[in-house]
Amino acid sequence: MDEQRCHEVLDLLNEGRLPEAEELSAFIDACAPSSFSGPVPEQACALEARYLAEAGLEGEELKTACPSPEEQETETAASLREVLFAMARSRAQEHFGNRIYIRGLIEISNICRQNCRYCGIRAANAQAQRYRLSPEQILECCEHGYGLGFRTFVLQGGEDGWFTDERLAGIVGGIKASWPDCAVTLSVGERAVSSYRLLRRAGADRFLLRHETADPVHYAKLHPTGQSWRRRMDCLQALKDCGYQTGAGFMVGSPWQTTDCLVEDVRFLYRFQPEMVGIGPFIPHAQTPFAQFPSGNVERTLVMVAITRLLLPAAMLPSTTALGTAAGDGRERGILAGANVLMPNLSPKEARSRYRLYDNKLSEGAECADNLAELRERIQAVGHEIVVDRGDYRPR
Ligand code: SF4
Repeated sequence: MDEQRCHEVLDLLNEGRLPEAEELSAFIDACAPSSFSGPVPEQACALEARYLAEAGLEGEELKTACPSPEEQETETAASLREVLFAMARSRAQEHFGNRIYIRGLIEISNICRQNCRYCGIRAANAQAQRYRLSPEQILECCEHGYGLGFRTFVLQGGEDGWFTDERLAGIVGGIKASWPDCAVTLSVGERAVSSYRLLRRAGADRFLLRHETADPVHYAKLHPTGQSWRRRMDCLQALKDCGYQTGAGFMVGSPWQTTDCLVEDVRFLYRFQPEMVGIGPFIPHAQTPFAQFPSGNVERTLVMVAITRLLLPAAMLPSTTALGTAAGDGRERGILAGANVLMPNLSPKEARSRYRLYDNKLSEGAECADNLAELRERIQAVGHEIVVDRGDYRPR
């Protein structure tokens, strides 16, 4: 795509308008040509064919085949990104000023019945050291977090059957009774619609459920056959219908992801209008089927954050832990690309090291809620300010 066409796409995005799919795809490639941070392993094609066959998709045209990993970074790409990031920053500034909202992340359990192929705590990983926080421990985390200035608690965990509707509703109700000025966000995976309803009635305000990829064939490559793209989409719709502020999201650079997959993600977000969107680079975990795959490219991740900010100006966009893990200054760069939320970790220390979704996941230093002062300083250094606020979604 020539530079002039790129600037036309930038103008459209800056007006909050969705470009045609082909244009958007070419624009993403022009801004951030590399999908992955290293070479794709030789077995990628064979693995892809196997997963498609398992999913009964042998006849499907392979949209991705084997992606070529390394495209050349160009000066044009760098200067396009600068324009894109400046536009996204300016849109975030219009909506949120220089305020950055914080959420206290409490990782309640790393026990999960699912087997997402990219996830370090998938059920099939026998080496994961499992744990589950008790309701009392969860409330202690909230109490500690409230004192530190958190006004949103995110209860995140694998799909752990111990957390029945009744138990989880009791915990949510307990948090709301003790700290009525706080928001509770749940991130506990796919559940029945009746469960989502009950938890909403118990006081849960928000629910995060990443869609992971809006392309069903790509979804089948990332998940085993028991997990369905349709069900994920139905759950997201059910969450919206129940009145949650709903969070979707996806990884950038997951195995076999093409630029067209990313365009589908953007189109889905534009249609679905989630109140929150989590976007981070794929990072492999050594005890998963994707151990040999390279991480996603950081620049491409930032490009997707910025495009999302322009198309969903009021959305709550975290600068994710994965971004911070992939690049030392990843959190700051996420904010400079339009993100406005950080999620420091409030979990007990022993739990933090075991909730390992991917290798080298940050849980110490500025990632730890106890080190909020350090995070505050780092954020101030890039012209933003962490605030004590629930940070609810407010439509324009
Ligand atoms: S991504 Fe979530 S649902 Fe999938 S295996 Fe990991 S914890 Fe379980």
